Amino acid sequence: MSKKTVVITGGAGFLGSHLADRMKLEGFRVICIDNLITGDVDNISHLFGSDDFHFIKHDVTNFIHVPGNVDYILHFASPASPIDYLKLPIQTLKVGSLGTHKVLGLAKEKKARFLLASTSEVYGDPAIHPQKEDYWGNVNPIGPRGVYDEAKRFAEAITMAYHRYHGVETRIVRIFNTYGPRMRLNDGRALPAFVSQALNGEDITVFGDGSQTRSFCYVSDLVDGIYRLLMSDDPNPVNIGNPEEITIKQFAEEVLRLTGSKSKIIFNPLPEDDPKVRQPDITLARTKLGWEPKVGRSEGLKVTLDYFRQKLHSQAK
Ligand code: UDP
Repeated sequence: MSKKTVVITGGAGFLGSHLADRMKLEGFRVICIDNLITGDVDNISHLFGSDDFHFIKHDVTNFIHVPGNVDYILHFASPASPIDYLKLPIQTLKVGSLGTHKVLGLAKEKKARFLLASTSEVYGDPAIHPQKEDYWGNVNPIGPRGVYDEAKRFAEAITMAYHRYHGVETRIVRIFNTYGPRMRLNDGRALPAFVSQALNGEDITVFGDGSQTRSFCYVSDLVDGIYRLLMSDDPNPVNIGNPEEITIKQFAEEVLRLTGSKSKIIFNPLPEDDPKVRQPDITLARTKLGWEPKVGRSEGLKVTLDYFRQKLHSQAK
């Protein structure tokens, strides 16, 4: 029997490339599409050369042509770190809106099942804690983060519309903060920023007083949750994340401890609309998908630190 085919948009990114690995392991033929504005072919270079792997450099806000059968589509194309989407506001809005429309069109044409990478950012600066899927969120549409938050909210809306109106099989995952190897050292997110500062002996830049919280999920857990959701039968959004919550100041201290760095913590202004708390309620994922995270922060951070050390080392050469 011939292999089933999965298309992954944003396939050269942090999450897209880990999904490509997982889908390959599960026996799929994998086609990654990426325009490489925040993705990096280094993340998928180990897959080149295999007959079951194809890479297409393309911006999915334009018409997408993929020859042959497609069974599944994972739509992960988007800048995803606050610094990236502040630098690329129009591209972020376009890929969430026009890009999602094009990728849904491909899913409809190919009769493929479509999974949207949505985000905890749809909850904005949440007034409900922890966040459950039935919470509608507290988003400032015109603030600097609005370009990402509203693009993803639109992406959820058009995904449900294609499901209801065109009968496309759809899934929506709301991804909470995730970390692991292949994050870009300079992507501006808390973990890569703290680690590169700690390893380079620079000051650790905590924004605000560091009392804001986040809950960090290791990438292999996230990928497993997404795979289970893809294979499940519910079109409604499901949170995937690790509910273990920590303040950003504690997180910076943890990075200092684990790296043995002598860097000191400094406090910089809090970016506009930075959510004060964030923690997923994962009851749905637990009950519907039989999923929960397995990798604790100490274990996940150890692997990630080794990766960042190697990256810094090879950059220094
Ligand atoms: N943050 C920080 N210092 C940095 C980068 C981020 O204190 O150098 C804070 C940021 O203000 C936020 C939290 O860390 O409160 C997580 O930020 P991140 O960019 O990782 O993603 P977010 O969860 O805000 O999307």
